[in-house]
Amino acid sequence: MGESWERVKEEAMEIIASASSSSSLPRLVVFDLDYTLWPFYCECRSKREMPKLYPHAKGILLALQDKGIDVAIASRSPTADIAITFLHKLHIKSMFVAQEIYSSWTHKTEHFQRINRLTGVPFNSMLFFDDEDRNIEAVSKMGVTSILVDNGVDLRAFREGLAKFSQNSGSSGRNK
Ligand SMILES: [Mg+2]
Repeated sequence: MGESWERVKEEAMEIIASASSSSSLPRLVVFDLDYTLWPFYCECRSKREMPKLYPHAKGILLALQDKGIDVAIASRSPTADIAITFLHKLHIKSMFVAQEIYSSWTHKTEHFQRINRLTGVPFNSMLFFDDEDRNIEAVSKMGVTSILVDNGVDLRAFREGLAKFSQNSGSSGRNK
């Protein structure tokens, strides 16, 4: 029961492997935090609590790491200190090559510009998961393949994300 993330990881690895056989993979996968990786607003929580991720989140992160695909965070949480504490407690903090966590009036376009500058990964080589429509809309306009999650990131959304990424990179050519 406690090892269910291992089964999720295996399935996520298979999804990545089958996507890579037919098309290109994203170089960087970016996750929102609240209601994407974990089922709460961390600004409403205490640092003393022990947070929990959505059931599929850890397996998906570990599969990406195993396959050599970088991961990053783009969060508009106003309480970066709580978010960072939780990432430490969950033992996933060191996995992320960029952690952009601050409130902003833009719908994460600023977050993605910074992630692009930090990592050098072009927008059209990124895949993004978030639970808010307006973020998905704004960030996809930048050329990032963006997936709206319903009840946190899970294998279904992950599969959809890789499929949409391959569609986008197959048909678009170079936009700019
Ligand atoms: Mg969110």
